[in-house]
Amino acid sequence: MIDIENYDDNNIFAKILKKEIPSKKIFENDFVYAFEDINPQAPVHILIIPKSKFCSFNDFCEKGDIKTVYETIRSINKVRQILNLKSGYRIITNVGKFGCQEVPHLHFHLLSGTMLGSIMKL
Ligand code: AMP
Repeated sequence: MIDIENYDDNNIFAKILKKEIPSKKIFENDFVYAFEDINPQAPVHILIIPKSKFCSFNDFCEKGDIKTVYETIRSINKVRQILNLKSGYRIITNVGKFGCQEVPHLHFHLLSGTMLGSIMKL
């Protein structure tokens, strides 16, 4: 089970940020890095990760400074603008065991490109 209490500097997204493993970049600024999910669940499946060390959405809400939180949210919007998702999209962040979080670095899934259907079927 992953630990979302203590940040692991060797988690896979930390390695992507350090360019130790490759990724397909979609967008980057001072606050976030956005890249294609390796196992897409929809025609558009992008992961948007803060560059700061947040284990999960819990950390982000509790420890993120106002500028980081604001700029992260604005950056997610920037990615959906770049991708021109005019017919809509879904943003998900999984937290902990019941949320089925696999990677202990906060990430937002941005899904689109088809009718996504019920949230319960994801
Ligand atoms: P979660 O279950 O919310 O933690 O989602 C983790 C996501 O990371 C999954 O959708 C994986 O397909 C994705 N993933 C894992 N390793 C990589 C990688 N090296 N590059 C891109 N996406 C990845």
